[in-house]
Amino acid sequence: MTQHRFALPKIISGGQSGADQGALFAAREMGFETGGWAPRGFFTENGYQPALLESFGLKDSQLDYIGRTKLNAKEADLTIWFGKTGTPGFNATNKAVREAGKKFLLASEHCDRCLVTEIKTCGIVNIAGNRESINPSIFQYTKDRMTRVLRMVKEKTMTKCMFPGCEKEATINVTTPDGKTHSYCSIDHMNDHRNILVHELMKK
Ligand SMILES: [Zn+2]
Repeated sequence: MTQHRFALPKIISGGQSGADQGALFAAREMGFETGGWAPRGFFTENGYQPALLESFGLKDSQLDYIGRTKLNAKEADLTIWFGKTGTPGFNATNKAVREAGKKFLLASEHCDRCLVTEIKTCGIVNIAGNRESINPSIFQYTKDRMTRVLRMVKEKTMTKCMFPGCEKEATINVTTPDGKTHSYCSIDHMNDHRNILVHELMKK
């Protein structure tokens, strides 16, 4: 019997106020792993925020904004931009992603379903965008939209427990003697389902 956790993509960002932090809050709320590289000292518009950003798994890049933007662009399979384009932050991100040879999408040009499809194929997704002072309410917009999108990613990625009527996420895979894979939320549901199947076989 093998035990296996179905992997969701990791969501990273640079930790700035605004879009970056909105994405981190949404990802944590939806049960996704979070992380990313922050500027030296975990610097944000609201001052140094090591406690907040470390709670999301961010690390201190020891670099300035552009340096940490490059690291995040390089680490991710895909970067999604939230907010206005043409800002210095946008230009730096656009350049970093292109130099890293990775995929770059504008959230404003894609529907939720398109973003779900793209995110699902990735191991690591970098969310970047405007800081709150440039685009007030971008934190809330990014948080709300990413919550919706990540909820759909989760629904499409997760395998449900095979025990009849159970809606929980399966975390245990069992290979049956005939080579099929059965997935269950718990050892109890695995054993209960096996008993039902054995019982049905005996009736035949
Ligand atoms: Zn179950």
